[in-house]
Amino acid sequence: MAAAGAQEQAGAKSPDLVVMKFGGTSVAGAEEIKRAAGRIVAAREQGTSVVAVLSARGSTTDELVEMAREVAERPDPREMDMLLSTGERISCALCAMAIVELGHKAISLTGSQAGIVTDSSHTKARIIDVRADRIRDALGQDSIVLVAGFQGVSTDSRDVTTLGRGGSDTTAVALAAALGGEVCEIYTDVRGVYSADPRIVPEARKLPVVSYEEMLEMAASGAKVLQLRSVEYARNHGVQIHCRSSSEDGPGTLVVSEQETLERPLVTAVTHSTDEARVTLTGVRDEPGVAGRILRALADANVNVDMIIQNEPVSTDGGADLSFTIESNDLPAALDALKKIQVSDGVETDEHTGKVSIVGAGMRSHPGVAAKVFETLGGQGINIEMISTSPIKISCVIAADRVSDAVKALHQAFELGEGAIRKEEPAGDEHRPTVAG
Ligand code: ADP
Ligand code: ASP
Ligand code: MG
Repeated sequence: MAAAGAQEQAGAKSPDLVVMKFGGTSVAGAEEIKRAAGRIVAAREQGTSVVAVLSARGSTTDELVEMAREVAERPDPREMDMLLSTGERISCALCAMAIVELGHKAISLTGSQAGIVTDSSHTKARIIDVRADRIRDALGQDSIVLVAGFQGVSTDSRDVTTLGRGGSDTTAVALAAALGGEVCEIYTDVRGVYSADPRIVPEARKLPVVSYEEMLEMAASGAKVLQLRSVEYARNHGVQIHCRSSSEDGPGTLVVSEQETLERPLVTAVTHSTDEARVTLTGVRDEPGVAGRILRALADANVNVDMIIQNEPVSTDGGADLSFTIESNDLPAALDALKKIQVSDGVETDEHTGKVSIVGAGMRSHPGVAAKVFETLGGQGINIEMISTSPIKISCVIAADRVSDAVKALHQAFELGEGAIRKEEPAGDEHRPTVAG
């Protein structure tokens, strides 16, 4: 299979090759591009081959999305990808020029030229193969290679695709896997992965190491410092991620397998999201197969469902209520899909809802954690609207305007801050935290 090819090549790790990814703020203006070029050249001058993946500059992608909305209420997804993929090309061409100016060979490539092959689901395509021959050839000719992040090409439709917001992280990890890079360095505007978003909690602690499992839960619950798919890809292909600052030296956060993490605190981080929408179907027919039809319709429309709650009907003639949360951006597609299947009396939507979560591998053995989360939110007068748990995560849907209070309160309640005394928890029997715990 195509994806296996990339995995096989990933078997041989090369300490002589590094993949460096620079995010939007790290290439925002001319000075930042020159600084990124300087870092890339410094790595090259140490004898390492360098592939750099760049994001679009500053808020370019947001501006492109806005431009599309100015001309179309529901922009055509194929054309959206043609538009969005341009941002990353600009960064790469400019950075290549800056590197040439520093006396090195450099070539910029689009995702398609770099061999990033995806499926054809526009605006959230998945990488299915990496055919990196052109990159290898350029490296062989002593060039630094700049690859436009966040994009690829579908070999089925021959169209340009994009990988979902934050997708340059995944481009970088996929290239590290395909080229056998030992580490994928993700340079960003913070010093690494923190115990909470440092913009909300200034005393948040930088985590020296975090496991793939915890990082997956963190990314899935809103810590956008790494795109969820990049962490999945890194775990599946054994790529170590080093997330670090583009403006300061010093170590950042290593994302590695659980065996390599020494610390196992009860709770590692508090994460949040305000980009979610909630949909409630009222009067859903209470018969087998209905939930399956609803979720199938959403899946076919490429809508990712996060939390789902269904209540049994109170009376025999009443229907059930089914609520679920999705990304706000997906709301129009979800409503279209639901209209087609007509399985409920009504559909209510909340376009902007919030979610706060706590993540920690240590909580597997401590059911009391859930109680502490709910008490803490209750103490702040924050109403919990929906709850979901995994063995290492507890998420609560709350009002969007209370998210930052909730993050601060939970961060303090679990003593996650810099300088807090951290209690190491002995490992116990593995079981899920119970909501009633
Ligand atoms: P880039 O443009 O470099 O890809 P992003 O904006 O995608 O950067 O991600 C970095 C941002 O993620 C930070 O500026 C920070 O506000 C936010 N963030 C959210 N949660 C966390 C966290 N737990 N640790 C670090 N940063 C976080
Ligand atoms: N430019 C894209 C975005 O803003 C991809 C990325 O930055 O990773 O989402
Ligand atoms: Mg990002």
